[in-house]
Amino acid sequence: MSKSNMMNTYGRFDVIFEKGKGARLFDSKGKEYIDFVSGVAVNCLGHANDKIVKTIKTQAEKLMHISNYYWNQNALDLAEKLCENTDHQKVFFCNSGTESIETALKLSRKYGRTFGTESKNEIIYMDNSFHGRTMGSLSVTGQPKYQENFRPLIGNVKSTKFNDMEDIKGKINDNTCAVIVEPIQGEGGIVCAHKEYLQLLRDLCDKYNALLIFDEVQCGVGRSGKLFAYQKFGVVPDVICMAKALGGGFPIGAVLAKEKAASAFVPGDHGNTFGGNPMGTAIGLCILNELIDGKVIDSVDEKGEYIKSKLVKLQEKYSCIKEIRGMGLLIGMQLNVSTKTVISKCFEKGLLLITAGPDVVRILPPLNVKNKDIDDAFEIIEEVFKEI
Ligand SMILES: *Cc1c(COP(=O)(O)O)cnc(C)c1O
Repeated sequence: MSKSNMMNTYGRFDVIFEKGKGARLFDSKGKEYIDFVSGVAVNCLGHANDKIVKTIKTQAEKLMHISNYYWNQNALDLAEKLCENTDHQKVFFCNSGTESIETALKLSRKYGRTFGTESKNEIIYMDNSFHGRTMGSLSVTGQPKYQENFRPLIGNVKSTKFNDMEDIKGKINDNTCAVIVEPIQGEGGIVCAHKEYLQLLRDLCDKYNALLIFDEVQCGVGRSGKLFAYQKFGVVPDVICMAKALGGGFPIGAVLAKEKAASAFVPGDHGNTFGGNPMGTAIGLCILNELIDGKVIDSVDEKGEYIKSKLVKLQEKYSCIKEIRGMGLLIGMQLNVSTKTVISKCFEKGLLLITAGPDVVRILPPLNVKNKDIDDAFEIIEEVFKEI
């Protein structure tokens, strides 16, 4: 055991995982768990998916990395696939969610200067949002607990109340270069934006020539029941940030943008070493093929409804469930008992769940989860509710 060599940044469960298959995980003692965390919305096709494993093996034998001084076909194919299935035309590849946000923030600042004036550099973000842990994304994360110890943050950013139609009208103006929002707040407690609110943001961004950025790092890539949540709300953003499920477990992120938004960047403005490497993009392409052409996304809503119907039944029996929220397979149950107790009891019985905010338990199965996995998980959840 050399746990003492790790920086003390995470509160972890006392377990070492060794392998997995589908929605099941096995620890170093051989105990089986149902995984309804999916690496925090990452393992969209479950663990050790045959197609992903094959893609990795084949690609590793050919080419893993070449740098962005050269082209590779996998990146071109993945970019094309993303554009074919959205209302957007341009892609930038990176390696994580926070990097995709940093890219969008830099793009916004450059957009403001290119199409406006030097002072068009203000970015508006939402209360209770989460966009990542690096200095830029942290600066637009509307939760004091993440920001407090790391000030000073980047300047010329300001927050507005999420889903508040009046507050934003008083905040946005000609100096605004972007508004950033999660269509479904994840870490903030699984809270969906109102369709009318997103439409208002769209109209205001058009009026003031600011970029509307959707952070779909958690709700994107199939989890909402469509490839991207914006397609559910029917409001098209200028920029979409994604990561998590795009690599199914391999680190890859991307920013998808409208032609005009993307045109603000010219060579030298932005870049990274690993982004768009042949390995990551091969895996991303494999995943989109499965989700879209393999029709995994088509049953996400149905499975989400199946889970919600089970939650509603539990809610009728146990008064500890206050509210059931979410979309597709991004589901939250707000409790009036300790989420920590519920989650640790589920863990002991072999079900993995995590929190979202102080009083919400988050349910994030793989998108290809089987009904049997759901049934087994709910047996455990019900046992736990009986005990408390
Ligand atoms: C996880 C997450 C991020 C940050 O992604 P990392 O890959 O951890 O940097 C950003 N935005 C949202 C909505 C997320 O859920």
